[in-house]
Amino acid sequence: MFDLLKGLGTTLKYLTKKPVTISYPEVKRPVRERFRGRHELKRFENGLERCIGCSLCAAACPADAIFVDPGENDPANPISVGERYAKSYEINMIRCIYCGYCEDACPTNAIVLEHDYELSFYDRKSAVFTKDILLVPPDQGSGEPSPLLLNLNRPPNPPAQIDL
Ligand code: SF4
Ligand code: SF4
Repeated sequence: MFDLLKGLGTTLKYLTKKPVTISYPEVKRPVRERFRGRHELKRFENGLERCIGCSLCAAACPADAIFVDPGENDPANPISVGERYAKSYEINMIRCIYCGYCEDACPTNAIVLEHDYELSFYDRKSAVFTKDILLVPPDQGSGEPSPLLLNLNRPPNPPAQIDL
Protein backbone atom coordinates (compact mmCIF):
# COMPACT_ATOMS: atom_id res chain seq x y z
CA MET A 1 0.00 0.00 0.00
CA PHE A 2 2.84 2.39 0.91
CA ASP A 3 4.60 1.79 -2.42
CA LEU A 4 1.35 2.43 -4.30
CA LEU A 5 0.85 5.76 -2.54
CA LYS A 6 4.48 6.65 -3.11
CA GLY A 7 4.03 6.05 -6.84
CA LEU A 8 0.85 8.09 -6.96
CA GLY A 9 2.62 10.89 -5.08
CA THR A 10 5.31 11.01 -7.77
CA THR A 11 2.62 11.20 -10.46
CA LEU A 12 0.81 14.02 -8.65
CA LYS A 13 4.07 15.90 -8.15
CA TYR A 14 4.70 16.05 -11.91
CA LEU A 15 1.09 16.95 -12.81
CA THR A 16 1.72 20.63 -12.12
CA LYS A 17 5.20 20.80 -13.72
CA LYS A 18 5.95 21.93 -17.27
CA PRO A 19 6.30 18.91 -19.62
CA VAL A 20 9.84 18.15 -20.80
CA THR A 21 8.70 16.44 -23.98
CA ILE A 22 9.65 18.27 -27.19
CA SER A 23 7.49 17.86 -30.29
CA TYR A 24 10.30 16.86 -32.63
CA PRO A 25 10.58 17.40 -35.61
CA GLU A 26 8.36 20.51 -35.40
CA VAL A 27 10.50 21.79 -32.51
CA LYS A 28 14.24 21.17 -32.65
CA ARG A 29 16.21 21.22 -29.46
CA PRO A 30 19.37 23.35 -29.73
CA VAL A 31 22.57 21.34 -29.38
CA ARG A 32 25.64 22.23 -27.34
CA GLU A 33 28.26 24.45 -28.94
CA ARG A 34 30.77 21.58 -29.11
CA PHE A 35 28.28 19.09 -30.55
CA ARG A 36 29.73 17.14 -33.48
CA GLY A 37 27.20 16.55 -36.25
CA ARG A 38 27.35 16.37 -40.01
CA HIS A 39 30.53 17.60 -41.68
CA GLU A 40 30.80 20.66 -43.89
CA LEU A 41 33.62 21.64 -46.25
CA LYS A 42 34.25 25.35 -45.70
CA ARG A 43 35.43 28.18 -47.95
CA PHE A 44 37.38 31.38 -47.43
CA GLU A 45 35.65 34.74 -47.67
CA ASN A 46 36.82 35.18 -51.28
CA GLY A 47 34.91 31.99 -52.22
CA LEU A 48 37.97 29.77 -52.67
CA GLU A 49 37.72 26.33 -51.13
CA ARG A 50 39.69 25.80 -47.94
CA CYS A 51 40.42 22.18 -48.77
CA ILE A 52 43.82 21.74 -50.42
CA GLY A 53 43.44 18.00 -51.02
CA CYS A 54 46.25 17.05 -48.63
CA SER A 55 44.41 13.93 -47.30
CA LEU A 56 45.55 14.52 -43.71
CA CYS A 57 41.93 14.10 -42.60
CA ALA A 58 41.74 10.73 -44.34
CA ALA A 59 44.99 9.64 -42.69
CA ALA A 60 43.73 10.71 -39.24
CA CYS A 61 40.33 9.02 -39.57
CA PRO A 62 40.22 5.89 -37.38
CA ALA A 63 37.20 4.55 -39.26
CA ASP A 64 38.66 4.95 -42.76
CA ALA A 65 35.55 6.93 -43.66
CA ILE A 66 37.15 9.66 -45.81
CA PHE A 67 38.28 9.45 -49.43
CA VAL A 68 40.14 12.38 -51.03
CA ASP A 69 41.22 12.52 -54.66
CA PRO A 70 43.41 15.63 -55.18
CA GLY A 71 43.77 17.59 -58.38
CA GLU A 72 46.26 20.28 -59.50
CA ASN A 73 44.95 23.85 -59.41
CA ASP A 74 45.07 25.96 -62.55
CA PRO A 75 46.89 29.16 -61.37
CA ALA A 76 44.75 31.25 -63.73
CA ASN A 77 41.53 29.87 -62.30
CA PRO A 78 42.20 28.30 -58.90
CA ILE A 79 39.57 26.35 -56.99
CA SER A 80 41.37 26.36 -53.64
CA VAL A 81 44.14 28.42 -52.05
CA GLY A 82 46.84 25.78 -52.42
CA GLU A 83 48.62 24.13 -55.31
CA ARG A 84 46.05 21.36 -55.16
CA TYR A 85 42.36 21.05 -54.41
CA ALA A 86 40.01 18.18 -53.65
CA LYS A 87 38.84 16.93 -57.05
CA SER A 88 36.74 14.41 -55.22
CA TYR A 89 35.92 14.30 -51.49
CA GLU A 90 33.69 11.69 -49.87
CA ILE A 91 32.70 10.75 -46.33
CA ASN A 92 30.96 7.49 -45.58
CA MET A 93 28.54 8.51 -42.84
CA ILE A 94 27.83 4.90 -41.85
CA ARG A 95 31.50 4.41 -40.97
CA CYS A 96 31.92 7.79 -39.25
CA ILE A 97 31.99 7.76 -35.45
CA TYR A 98 31.97 11.57 -35.14
CA CYS A 99 35.25 11.65 -33.25
CA GLY A 100 36.40 14.92 -34.84
CA TYR A 101 39.94 13.71 -35.62
CA CYS A 102 39.54 14.86 -39.25
CA GLU A 103 38.69 18.35 -38.01
CA ASP A 104 41.75 18.41 -35.75
CA ALA A 105 44.09 17.17 -38.50
CA CYS A 106 43.02 19.70 -41.16
CA PRO A 107 45.63 22.46 -41.67
CA THR A 108 43.15 24.92 -43.22
CA ASN A 109 40.05 24.31 -41.05
CA ALA A 110 38.30 23.08 -44.18
CA ILE A 111 36.42 20.17 -42.66
CA VAL A 112 34.18 21.06 -39.72
CA LEU A 113 31.65 18.94 -37.85
CA GLU A 114 28.61 21.17 -37.63
CA HIS A 115 25.34 20.91 -35.70
CA ASP A 116 23.12 19.02 -38.14
CA TYR A 117 22.11 15.68 -36.62
CA GLU A 118 19.32 14.70 -39.00
CA LEU A 119 21.08 11.89 -40.80
CA SER A 120 19.11 8.95 -42.08
CA PHE A 121 19.51 6.80 -45.16
CA TYR A 122 17.45 4.29 -47.06
CA ASP A 123 20.46 2.60 -48.62
CA ARG A 124 24.24 2.45 -48.22
CA LYS A 125 24.96 4.47 -51.34
CA SER A 126 23.12 7.53 -50.08
CA ALA A 127 25.18 7.40 -46.86
CA VAL A 128 28.28 8.39 -48.83
CA PHE A 129 28.29 12.19 -48.79
CA THR A 130 30.12 13.63 -51.78
CA LYS A 131 31.77 17.01 -52.17
CA ASP A 132 28.71 18.64 -53.70
CA ILE A 133 26.75 17.77 -50.54
CA LEU A 134 29.52 18.71 -48.09
CA LEU A 135 30.78 21.97 -49.63
CA VAL A 136 29.12 25.16 -48.39
CA PRO A 137 27.84 27.74 -50.96
CA PRO A 138 30.35 30.40 -52.15
CA ASP A 139 28.64 33.19 -50.18
CA GLN A 140 29.13 31.33 -46.89
CA GLY A 141 32.90 31.64 -46.74
CA SER A 142 34.73 33.25 -43.85
CA GLY A 143 38.24 34.31 -42.89
CA GLU A 144 41.22 35.24 -44.99
CA PRO A 145 43.64 32.57 -46.25
CA SER A 146 47.09 32.52 -44.72
CA PRO A 147 49.77 34.11 -46.97
CA LEU A 148 51.61 30.77 -46.71
CA LEU A 149 48.78 29.17 -48.67
CA LEU A 150 48.67 31.76 -51.44
CA ASN A 151 51.56 30.31 -53.36
CA LEU A 152 49.87 29.64 -56.67
CA ASN A 153 51.88 32.18 -58.64
CA ARG A 154 55.24 31.53 -57.08
CA PRO A 155 58.04 30.66 -59.54
CA PRO A 156 58.83 26.96 -59.83
CA ASN A 157 61.80 25.65 -57.88
CA PRO A 158 65.04 25.82 -59.90
CA PRO A 159 66.28 22.47 -61.13
CA ALA A 160 68.69 20.79 -58.76
CA GLN A 161 72.36 21.08 -59.69
CA ILE A 162 73.95 17.63 -59.93
CA ASP A 163 77.72 17.34 -60.16
CA LEU A 164 78.57 14.53 -62.52
S1 SF4 B 1 34.63 12.41 -37.40
FE1 SF4 B 1 36.15 10.78 -36.99
S2 SF4 B 1 35.30 8.93 -37.92
FE2 SF4 B 1 34.14 10.67 -38.77
S3 SF4 B 1 35.18 11.17 -40.68
FE3 SF4 B 1 36.10 12.47 -39.09
S4 SF4 B 1 37.88 11.32 -38.31
FE4 SF4 B 1 36.60 9.88 -39.47
S1 SF4 C 1 39.74 18.63 -45.49
FE1 SF4 C 1 41.64 19.47 -44.67
S2 SF4 C 1 42.89 17.68 -44.11
FE2 SF4 C 1 41.24 16.97 -45.49
S3 SF4 C 1 42.15 17.00 -47.54
FE3 SF4 C 1 41.09 18.97 -47.23
S4 SF4 C 1 42.69 20.37 -46.44
FE4 SF4 C 1 43.48 18.28 -46.20
